[in-house]
Amino acid sequence: MKDKMPQETFSRLSDRTKLVYAGRDPFEQHGFVNTPIYRGSTVIAPTMETLLNRSGRYIYGTQGTPTSDALEQAWTQISKAAGTVCVPSGLAAVSVALLSCLKAGDHLLVTDSVYRPTRVFCDGMLKRFGVETTYFDPMIGDNIASLFKPNTKAVFTEAPGSQSFEVQDVPAIARVAHERGAVVLMDNTWATPFFFSPHEMGVDLAIEAGTKYLSGHSDILLGLVSANERTWKNLRDTYDAMAICAGPEDMFLALRGMRTMLLRLKEQEKAALDMAHWLKAQPDVLKVLHPALPDCPGHEIWKRDFTGSSGLFSIILKPASQNAVAAMLDDLALFGMGYSWGGFESLIIPFDCATYRTVTKWNPGGPALRIQIGLEDVKDLQADLSAGFARLRAAHNA
Ligand SMILES: *Cc1c(COP(=O)(O)O)cnc(C)c1O
Repeated sequence: MKDKMPQETFSRLSDRTKLVYAGRDPFEQHGFVNTPIYRGSTVIAPTMETLLNRSGRYIYGTQGTPTSDALEQAWTQISKAAGTVCVPSGLAAVSVALLSCLKAGDHLLVTDSVYRPTRVFCDGMLKRFGVETTYFDPMIGDNIASLFKPNTKAVFTEAPGSQSFEVQDVPAIARVAHERGAVVLMDNTWATPFFFSPHEMGVDLAIEAGTKYLSGHSDILLGLVSANERTWKNLRDTYDAMAICAGPEDMFLALRGMRTMLLRLKEQEKAALDMAHWLKAQPDVLKVLHPALPDCPGHEIWKRDFTGSSGLFSIILKPASQNAVAAMLDDLALFGMGYSWGGFESLIIPFDCATYRTVTKWNPGGPALRIQIGLEDVKDLQADLSAGFARLRAAHNA
């Protein structure tokens, strides 16, 4: 560690080891293990020449600090990317990525299973700036070719789909898009680069809501966009033009979360799989939408392209009234009802994709629940849900 680790040495390390060493150099910090929080707007230049040529290592707070460099470099290495920008939320990562590759008059293709606020950004802001969006069936594969127009400049994927978990054929979509000169974006928040290596799969711009697993503690909002060589300059220029920089304290907490991210992910993967199989055997459950289980559309694609599954999935209950579902959820002791996920605590929310989808039908056959598995003991979580199912049945039969 006395000398900075050469890139070839680093890239041969396993992911677990990379997470320990990425983005820190103790001897740059008087030997302290972690890169500290650098707060600041002004950066003092040593000479007038340095000031005027902007040739110092740091120039102004919005354009990077040792704290943002540490996080961005670490994420770039983990993502096998050319560069990363770090922004104040996952949705800001989505918007800065889209703005970096679109202009007035362009056409954009977006999966119908996309994270809903991404859809709001496309239908509102992008439309207002003259970008037209067409939604596509997440299971479209290379038939996406039929949706291309001469002005199609970008394709936005998300695998698995938000809430509904369809696994898209990202490599096939990327092949079609690249033949037509379009940029491929992917919201990779669910898998993270550890379970799906976006740039090796043909993605140009990969988005991660750092709010989720990178934070891991439900205490920060953060977004990251990693870019390959082809898209990096435009991404960085767009980010600089907007000065949409994340706060130093949040970036510090993200670096701290990163050290244990893979360990947490693996625990949550195992617990979520246990839970998914258990739920599949429950009489009140119609379907389990978990990419590692055969009920999930695109399960075969998940097996081919992903190296793991994280702690978030959905279930479909047998038909029940809203009151019965409320009786189940309102008195859960361990599962919290709230948005977001990726923290250490388990969550559950009801959802209905039919309220916003535009090109695919959502008619799952019963009430849908999205479940995030945290770090609790699965047995305790199962007991909590068992009691919930009993309340569901009692309310249903009342
Ligand atoms: C949560 C989430 C985001 C947005 O992250 P925020 O930090 O909450 O803005 C983006 N994409 C996906 C898939 C998400 O789940």
